[in-house]
Amino acid sequence: RNNAEKFEFQAEVSRLMDIIINSLYSNKDIFLRELISNASDALDKIRFLSLTDKEVLGEGDTSKLEIQIKLDKEKKILSLRDRGIGMTKEDLIKNLGTIAKSGTSAFVEKMQSSGDLNLIGQFGVGFYSVYLVADYVEVISKHNDDKQYVWESKADGAFAISEDTWNEPLGRGTEIRLHLRDEAQEYLEESKLKELVKKYSEFINFPIYIWASKEVDVEVPADEDDSSDEEENADTSSSEEGEDEDAEKKPKTKKVKETTYEWELLNDVKAIWLRSPKEVTDEEYTKFYQSLAKDFSDEKPMAWSHFTAEGDVEFKSVLFVPPKAPHDLYESYYNTNKANLKLYVRRVFISDEFDELLPKYLSFLKGLVDSDTLPLNVSREMLQAHSSLKTIKKKLIRKALDMIRKIAEEDPDESSQYTKFWNEFGKSIKLGIIEDATNRNRLAKLLRFESTKSDGKLTSLDQYISRMKSGQKDIFYITGTSKEQLEKSPFLERLKKKNYEVIFFTDPVDEYLMQYLMDYDGKQFQNVSKEGLKIGKDPKNKELKESFKELTKWWKGALEGENVDEVKISNRLDNTPCVVVTSKFGWSANMERIMQSQTL
Ligand code: ADP
Ligand code: MG
Repeated sequence: RNNAEKFEFQAEVSRLMDIIINSLYSNKDIFLRELISNASDALDKIRFLSLTDKEVLGEGDTSKLEIQIKLDKEKKILSLRDRGIGMTKEDLIKNLGTIAKSGTSAFVEKMQSSGDLNLIGQFGVGFYSVYLVADYVEVISKHNDDKQYVWESKADGAFAISEDTWNEPLGRGTEIRLHLRDEAQEYLEESKLKELVKKYSEFINFPIYIWASKEVDVEVPADEDDSSDEEENADTSSSEEGEDEDAEKKPKTKKVKETTYEWELLNDVKAIWLRSPKEVTDEEYTKFYQSLAKDFSDEKPMAWSHFTAEGDVEFKSVLFVPPKAPHDLYESYYNTNKANLKLYVRRVFISDEFDELLPKYLSFLKGLVDSDTLPLNVSREMLQAHSSLKTIKKKLIRKALDMIRKIAEEDPDESSQYTKFWNEFGKSIKLGIIEDATNRNRLAKLLRFESTKSDGKLTSLDQYISRMKSGQKDIFYITGTSKEQLEKSPFLERLKKKNYEVIFFTDPVDEYLMQYLMDYDGKQFQNVSKEGLKIGKDPKNKELKESFKELTKWWKGALEGENVDEVKISNRLDNTPCVVVTSKFGWSANMERIMQSQTL
């Protein structure tokens, strides 16, 4: 076009598009759910703005918050239109030409090697999946603050933007036209699109319509030169009507099939969280999770909890434990506040960037909260300060921890499900113990580890306690880099011989964990490599102390200035003659190692 402005895609986007275009990826269907998901996001945004300013919605059709799909078989165009917030010219350049999010590079890398585009939506680049099926894409968009523009690209490294002077005005919103590739003509079949919407977008909270054809019978005047067959039919019908003479004189008509079009609604917009949990099937929860989390891997969520909180603060919520930890869960743990719950107030989506609903350590959960108590006309700041929020958060944590506890309980030998949970999210539980003093005990119940008696499996503190020897007061543990290394530790000799169980803590975070986890069920934790280990009384201790007094005295003198506090006779060893023990309040040797590796 003459007045089009040309732009180049950010290098990263170009690379991504190349991969998508040349992809042999079989599941090309995903483009539709990505487009619908974007349309739904755009509708959420305008609805949110309309809470404080009704005017933004506009009038007539423009104010209808809906999504429309249309097929043009002749031109081979599939178009999807929403009446969402739309994009200004600047938005078009920024949103459909660059990727701001971190981690995209890693994703591109990963996609290149695995060819799995299924998680594209999670990486904030879902839009580009249109090039799985189209070789030319037009995005027509109208934002309240700007004129109507057309963005277009043939995925050849560049895109163009022009002020739209030729298409029908959209009022507000976005229409995306996909010029389908020859090998993607199946997406011109209504039945195919209906199937896809059902499959992937059932839980979109805005109506999705398709411009559907319908065969209808219509009566049309029969032509003079109708075949004799038709004449016969007409004759029989009139003779059946009896001896009505007029019938024969009436102009003859015939029934023909005619195709008409009408908007057909494809989804049930009743929000799943408003339904009674008893009426929602597992499959529905799974599908809901998928569209909420944009996680369309084949795996089901590990658990979910759907509940209504009543009392002074009323809200409904659905929480999910995803089947897998996101790729960057711990990478960004300390840098970003990642909110994974969507907040609704009275059915209206408010924000998914609101990180006050769950503590950081539970940010691996997905789900939503719909509150009746919070004010509708809200800014983030107002919400943050709202007193209900504390109560909501408290209840959500309880429910979340209950849900996790149940994964373990419903899997008594913990052979599969809880082990899987632990491998994916165990670190979050440990971080919780460190950060959440109020729920420390509940979280400690969820802790799993290996021990000298766990036989290569995971075990819990409750199980440890049930195996404690009579008279044993403390819970013994040792920290180090690996179980293999720890099993050889001289610190374990005596304890093993006396049949005491010792927990192995081998994750660097465990050192921090044990600074916060002081006791459990009335029992103290004792690091067996630290001073203060008591394993029963040894009657000979006093005697030995006396007879080796000279030696210990000499030894201490010999080590003067070497950071040694004391040289003592001890009953903690069996074969090894001596060992260096850390003072009760000092860092363990393992902690020294961790700290050193961090400062280097
Ligand atoms: P994501 O949806 O995760 O942000 P996408 O690649 O799907 O990533 O979309 C990129 C951006 O383009 C969106 O964040 C949004 O700003 C914009 N966008 C895409 N589709 C629409 C639409 N239908 N209406 C308004 N904005 C849109
Ligand atoms: Mg998207």
